[in-house]
Amino acid sequence: SMAEKRFKYVILGGGVAAGYAAREFAKLGVNPGELAIISKESVAPYERPALSKGYLFPQGAARLPGFHVCVGSGGERLLPEWYTEKGIELILSTEIVKADLASKALTSAAGETFKYDTLIIATGSTVIRLSDFGVQGADANGIFYLREIDDADKLVAAIQAKKGGKAVIVGGGYIGLELGAALSINDLDVTMVYPEPWCMPRLFTSGIAAFYEGYYANKGIKIIKGTVAVGFDSNANGDVTAVKLKDGRVLEADIVVVGVGGRPLTTLFKGQLEEEKGGIKTDGFFKTSAPDVYAVGDVATFPLKLYNELRRVEHVDHSRKSAEQAVKFASRVDANYNPIGGGHNPRGWPTPNDLSSPNGELGLLQTADKAAIKASEGVGSFEEYDYLPYFYSRAFDLSWQFYGDNVGDTVLFGDNDPSSAKPKFGTYWIKDGKVVGAFLESGTSDENKAIAKVARVQPPVESLDQLTQQGLAFASTF
Ligand code: FAD
Repeated sequence: SMAEKRFKYVILGGGVAAGYAAREFAKLGVNPGELAIISKESVAPYERPALSKGYLFPQGAARLPGFHVCVGSGGERLLPEWYTEKGIELILSTEIVKADLASKALTSAAGETFKYDTLIIATGSTVIRLSDFGVQGADANGIFYLREIDDADKLVAAIQAKKGGKAVIVGGGYIGLELGAALSINDLDVTMVYPEPWCMPRLFTSGIAAFYEGYYANKGIKIIKGTVAVGFDSNANGDVTAVKLKDGRVLEADIVVVGVGGRPLTTLFKGQLEEEKGGIKTDGFFKTSAPDVYAVGDVATFPLKLYNELRRVEHVDHSRKSAEQAVKFASRVDANYNPIGGGHNPRGWPTPNDLSSPNGELGLLQTADKAAIKASEGVGSFEEYDYLPYFYSRAFDLSWQFYGDNVGDTVLFGDNDPSSAKPKFGTYWIKDGKVVGAFLESGTSDENKAIAKVARVQPPVESLDQLTQQGLAFASTF
């Protein structure tokens, strides 16, 4: 049998959460050889949202190593050399096909075994494919999905090969809207198709959506709503030539991009971990139902304290923060096994005196001790995760942010005329007389901070009319 490798910590998945987790481990002073990241991608963790934005620019496109984590949140880039320096093993192009949590072992497609003491599951999501629903012709060439950098490279090659051609975008969510814009600025003639009455219906109100649909129309993008793709035509080479819609229309197409949603990658753990709402159930420290197993990012269904509800969140901000929270907690748990903390050391891990401090950073125990002290003072960094949902998107010259919960009544404020020179508008969501969510297009950084604060504080509102009049000024008073 093939060689077996052992690590104190294994992060399964090499995406956004994995990269931020690695940085947190390094901060807390992980020893060389203790931590491995196993990823089926061939590159070190990077900021995935770039793939549908800067990566597709016709000029000056973002390329690695430009957007490795942690640049997305204003931090230093973790280049492959960084992992080497820290003694963190990046095990790339390696797909795990079996996870046995009882024996703490992972098996790769090539048959290697990886053993761990603590596992952090960060497998993210995969795209839902039209072939999953048996859509006729859906395996033709020229039909693209976008999740990983390999997908983006194939799409870039097609965009270059089909300049001036016709593109059809299937789906009106994040991916659909960002890809519609990206293909349009690459000189493709774009048509978008989605079944709902307006784009991004899971978040946008009809008023918000009307702005984006109008803006896209002004850019020459055609939008077909209320129907779906039911089949594809292709030529003798197997290249897609047309999209057939349920309402009978047929759209010529040289490129099709499908963005119809994702699904968390939890199958490896079926029957081994408790699940909830399609994800792996965790507590406020991202511990799963199995000992020494954590789940973070897109796969975790965690207690969203603010709303007293279990939720799964598929957004980059949460993937970063959940990773940091899990690592802080996992490190503390391990430090507590050491004798000096009054604990025990069942696994023979290095005792505090053995813990070196690479590059003069704080050692694991020092940091954990400080945190434990802080926690006993009630101001610790080990409080339960208390997340304020934050989503954003960018396309063309537009940029929006959303904080909080999109439930209850809504008011729309500001200038949402898609033909305005400088449109700027927003929406508040009001539930039980309090503002619980806020959306803003084209906000400054201070204004975005203000709407975040409102969503966190949940101030009461007297009248919806008054709130509409006040608009952004309401948020700025908090
Ligand atoms: P991922 O970043 O998806 O990483 C999962 C990793 O696990 C991948 O490397 C994958 O290859 C690996 N993996 C999975 N299974 C295995 C296995 N069996 N063996 C080995 N490796 C495995 N969010 C926003 O908030 N704003 C945005 O603008 C935005 N834009 C996006 C644009 C695109 C194109 C995409 C795809 C997503 C976007 N998101 C955005 C969502 C955001 O990127 C995700 O929420 C985030 O990446 C989740 O982080 P993660 O670490 O949980 O998963």
